[in-house]
Order: sequence, then structure tokens, then C-alpha cells
Amino acid sequence: MKEIEALLKKFFGYTSFRPLQANIIKRILDKKDSLVLMPTGGGKSICFQLPAIYLPGTAVVISPLIALMKDQVEGLLSNGIPAAALNSSMPDAERQRIKQLCMQGKVKLLYISPEGLMGEVDWLLPRMDISLIAIDEAHCISQWGHDFRPEYTQLAVLKERFPKVPIVALTATADKITRLDILNQLKLNDPQTFISSFDRPNLSLTVKRGFSKKEKIASIVHFINARKQQSGIVYCMKRSDTEELAEALNSYGIKAIAYHAGLAPARREKAQDDYINDRFDVVCATVAFGMGIDKSNVRWVIHYNMPGSIENYYQEIGRAGRDGLPSDTLLFYSLGDLVLLRRFVEESGQSDITSEKLERMKRYCETDVCRRRILLSYFGEEAEHDCGNCDVCKNPPQRFDGTILVQKALSAVVRTGERVGIQMLIDILRGSFRQEIRQHGYDQLKTYGAGRDLSYKEWKEYVYQMLQLGYAEVDYAAGRTLKVTPLGSKVLYGELKAQLATWNEDENTDNYSDKGSRGTRETKKKFKASPIRPIDSDSIEESLLDSLRQLRKQLAERESMPAYIIFSDQSLQDMVEKKPVTLDEFSEIIGVGQIKLDKYGKVFVSLIRFVLKLPKLNF
Ligand code: ADP
Ligand code: ZN
Repeated sequence: MKEIEALLKKFFGYTSFRPLQANIIKRILDKKDSLVLMPTGGGKSICFQLPAIYLPGTAVVISPLIALMKDQVEGLLSNGIPAAALNSSMPDAERQRIKQLCMQGKVKLLYISPEGLMGEVDWLLPRMDISLIAIDEAHCISQWGHDFRPEYTQLAVLKERFPKVPIVALTATADKITRLDILNQLKLNDPQTFISSFDRPNLSLTVKRGFSKKEKIASIVHFINARKQQSGIVYCMKRSDTEELAEALNSYGIKAIAYHAGLAPARREKAQDDYINDRFDVVCATVAFGMGIDKSNVRWVIHYNMPGSIENYYQEIGRAGRDGLPSDTLLFYSLGDLVLLRRFVEESGQSDITSEKLERMKRYCETDVCRRRILLSYFGEEAEHDCGNCDVCKNPPQRFDGTILVQKALSAVVRTGERVGIQMLIDILRGSFRQEIRQHGYDQLKTYGAGRDLSYKEWKEYVYQMLQLGYAEVDYAAGRTLKVTPLGSKVLYGELKAQLATWNEDENTDNYSDKGSRGTRETKKKFKASPIRPIDSDSIEESLLDSLRQLRKQLAERESMPAYIIFSDQSLQDMVEKKPVTLDEFSEIIGVGQIKLDKYGKVFVSLIRFVLKLPKLNF
């Protein structure tokens, strides 16, 4: 394993393995089969890439998406590892050339789609010296998973045809049925399953509820402005929302682009490419976006609407912070979303499982215990303590006796004959002069105006709490009107006291961490190999980070590569921290392997010296 560790440093610039990586690699080197479950960003790729480098022959990597293959191959090549992808969109001559290289053993990793693989099982594969087979996104094999791909079900043939070659199947989807399905279908030989913790402590978790569209947009603008030049994704349920939101953000000077499956392919590809290459900071997308995108420097993910299940939510927020640096996630939740999602569930025909999943998601949004605990327990892990990095941990709920407040609200509900929704209820309580109120004679009710002391938003929050506590429920079938439950009646008639959690409007306008704000000035320039001008800042760290970003961007544009392939955010941060001023010191930076040291060492060291006002070195 010493040798393997040396390769980890040499090719990837990392000094130690993450939990399980070494065990999985050892298992592959022992020629045995395994199933690897790791969250997105957990570091699955290294588990097969390192053995592929170490073992003689070529590793075959099955991957469902061309974009994903391309990204991985680029990453490997940039670290000096001979890798290639075979896919149907390539010109024939190029395919032939790659096949030749494979047969000559000149490629260490060959990425191929499952369809492509089936076409080569009898021709190319037997002519190659296969070191190992890696099946990425292995959950695609299962109908129970969320990305079922029929082509994956044919992969059982691999074990039959190449019984001696170790197979490693990898996925970030954890549920039990899918797991068993993968093992069975692939016919793995005495497989060992590795399950790494699904915890992603670097992701902060925040949920906000009951925001109107306008409030959501204002909140998003504020959030993004506190994170200038950082990459982020806003997930929307509806296609039209992605476009509308991108436009709204543009009007605030934010570089945002829309992405959804309804765009013409060329436009979609361009949007993706622009985002990956940091030409746009923000993408407003449906869930069609993200699978197969390895961009490691996504710093935040916002859910404009509530997702339909915790699996989906976790996968989507998992696209932030793959490099392990602190990243923020924010979810907006409203009853409107819930109504829409419930309708989808009814139309799906699989209502049992899906509605249970939706219910769990809703409970996550409404919880007042540590959110990470809920997530981990959902994935079958126990968390021993509160995380300290979710909104509940940061602002623990303070309770007060809210009996009178609940009584006011429920009594108004009863007096209207249970015929009003949340908005109308609040307007009645606050004594609004809306015409409808007079039309229905609600201004004659005893409770009219009885809640003037609270703001609209406060009332909304407390009504949500009443729903959550089971004092009232929403009748979705009857125009979302409110009904008092038997438990609610007990509070209403004084048999039961109601404890509510204090809600403070100021705290809730922005309670996620705002520390992420870096590089405070607009420094983006059109590509020219122009001299880098550090921004003028009192903090040397800030100007250094900004200069390093500029250099990375120039190099990326020159090489037509995404910036994060040149160096991850984590590497830049490490440079800011360690301030390497010699090549030797630079080689100690996270993510700096031999190739990157040779290729970029001098320019980066020169730049760092320049920013630190040290004399030039003659390399
Ligand atoms: P996954 O495929 O599980 O989603 P990746 O393999 O893309 O995750 O890894 C996520 C990030 O973590 C990448 O930037 C990768 O280079 C980095 N990484 C993986 N293993 C290590 C390690 N041992 N030390 C430091 N960084 C690592
Ligand atoms: Zn927490």
C-alpha cells in the first residue's frame, strides 16, 4: 500500500486516503468483487483509478453519460494518466484509433457507455488486457432506483465472459432494495459491500418556508450577492420558473443562465458548458441538470421548490462542495409545492411508496430537531450529536405558551364555517380591509382584527406550526381550506395548552452562514493573456485568492478546460493558506501531483511571489 500512496501523491496530489478508499483499492488489487456506496463527492473515482494506474493492462469503466465520461477523462489526462472514452458520437476514425491504443495497452482507463460496451463484448474486450471493470452509477441497473436504464441490465454478461477480472460497482444511492438488486443482477462473486458515511458535514442546511415568489427572489438575490463569483445551482420544479428566475437574477446583475430538458439540445449543451467553464456563476435548472456533472467547485445549491423525496434532495444538494470545502444549501418550502407534488404522486400510479417519500420530505422541512440527524437516520446512520451546521442547530427553537394565539386562529376558522385558506384567515385575524372580507361578512366576526399585533409573516409561520402540530389541517380537495382537528378542538376549548416555537422575522431574513463571501470585486475580464492585477484589498489573502482565480481562469480558457480541472477550489485555498514561494513548497499543495507541478508550478509560484511583493525567481 505504500506504493499506492506514493501514486496518490504523484498523480492526484493527495497525501492520504479518505475512509474506505484504501480498503476498496486493496480489495480490487486482490482481484475480488465489491460494491461501493459513497455519497456524491465522497471520492469514488479514485477507488478504481488508482488500481487502474497500478495494475498492468486497461481498466474498463462503464458510465451512463457522455458528459460524465468526458469530464473524468479530461481530469485524468490533466494529471498525466492515459485515459480515453469510446462513445457513439465520435467520428469513426477516432473510435478506431482509440481501439488500437486499447489493444496495444496504451490506455490505462477506457470509459465506455453500456450500449457501447455490449457492442464490443465480442470484439474489442477479448483483445484487451483488462485489469478491472468499474461500473459507475450502478443504481441505474435497478428499477427501484431513480435513474433506471435498461441497457444496464445486460451487464451481467461481464462476469460470465471475464470471470477472473475484478468488478467494482459504485453508486451514491443507498437504499436496500437497490443495493441487493445490483449485487444480484451483476452476478458478483462473493462481493464485499463498502458503505461509507453519507454525512457531508461541509454542507450547511437551511430551510425557509411560506415565502411568496417575490420574497423568494429577494432572498435568493441577497444570498447570491453574499457569495460573489461563487458557482451555484438553483433547482426549480417547473421549466418556466428556470427561465423566469434566470431573467430576474440577470436584472439584478447576476450572471445566471437557465437549463431544462425542453431547450434545444445545442442550447442546453451550451448552457451546461458555460456554467462548467465559469462563464456563468449561476444556473437555474430543473433536475435534468446535474447528473453527470463533476464540477467540484459548486459552492451552493438552492431549492426553489421542495423536492419529492429525501433521496432526490440529498443527491441534489450533494452537488455542492464536492471538494470538501464549506458550502451552503437552502431550501424553500411552501404548501403550493406540496399540492403540486401530491398531484404528481397521484398521477404516478405508484402512490404508496412515493407518497410515503413525499411525507418524509415534508417532515424534514418541518422539523425542529437537527436536520442532519434526520437525513442520516433516513439513510440508516445514527448521528450521536447535533451537527451545528443546520438552521435548527444555529437557531434552536425557543418555546412559548401559544395557547391564546392558537385559539384566536382556530376560533376564526370555526366562525367562517371552515371555508377559508391560510391567506384569508390571516387577513381576518389582522383586520384587513380586503373587499372579499366584507363581501363574506367576515369583518363582523368576533375574531376580526384580533391578531393585529403580529405581522403577516409571523402569522403565516405560526399557522404552519399549527398544521405541523396537528391542530389544523389543509383540505386539499376543498380549495385548500383549513379544518380544525380534534386535537385542535382541545386547544380551542382550553383542555390543552399549545407550545409554539418563537419565530423572529429579523433572524429569518438571513440565517445561513454568510462567511462564504470572498473576492468582493467584479474582476472578470474577457480572455486575453493579460497581466493579472490583484484586487486592491486590505487582506492579502483576498487579493491572493482573487489573483489565483484569475490565473486559473486564463489557463482554463487557453486550454479549453473547465477551471476546476486545472486546480480545484480546495487547491487554491491551500495555496492561499500555505503561500508557497518555491516549487518545493508548491509541490506540497493539495491536488498538486507531478504533472501539475511541472506544468503550472512556475506560473503559480511566480504569481504568488508577485502578490506577496517578493523578488522574482529565475527558475
Ligand atoms: P464521487 O465520484 O464519489 O462523487 P469524486 O471521485 O469525484 O467523488 O471525488 C470528489 C472530490 O474529492 C474530487 O475533487 C476528488 O479529487 C477529491 N478526492 C477524492 N479522494 C481524495 C483524497 N483521498 N484526498 C483529497 N481529495 C480527494
Ligand atoms: Zn444540525
